[in-house]
Amino acid sequence: MKRRVCPHCAESYTPTMADLRKLGLEPTAATTKGWKKGKGCPQCFNSGYLGREAIVELLDIDDRVRELIYEGTMTQLNRYLQEINFVSFRVSAVQKITTGVTTIEEVLRVLPHTVFAHPPSSPSVTWLPIAAVS
Ligand SMILES: [Zn+2]
Repeated sequence: MKRRVCPHCAESYTPTMADLRKLGLEPTAATTKGWKKGKGCPQCFNSGYLGREAIVELLDIDDRVRELIYEGTMTQLNRYLQEINFVSFRVSAVQKITTGVTTIEEVLRVLPHTVFAHPPSSPSVTWLPIAAVS
């Protein structure tokens, strides 16, 4: 489950180079402008997050991914993400971060880091160790 940034106390902030690198993004106006973090208020009990939302609903991914996120191994998930339209999945997650819907911490807490390890221009098969052996 992924929490949304609390709308009552959300503040814009500029992601660090390390943040952008984790998502495989270049530091441009489009990728750095919309980031938000809740600073904490009575409505969110000072957590900065409000409500809980299944990451699967937030990202429009299918039942199989849902199942793998909750019950499968990272290897299974990575392999399946390679099979489906993985690019749109990644793009969707990045979009939620760069438009302030959620934070990079939340996304990386739920998804395998390898999902964001390489920029979108890279062929998707090169970024997973598993690809080399299969
Ligand atoms: Zn709040």
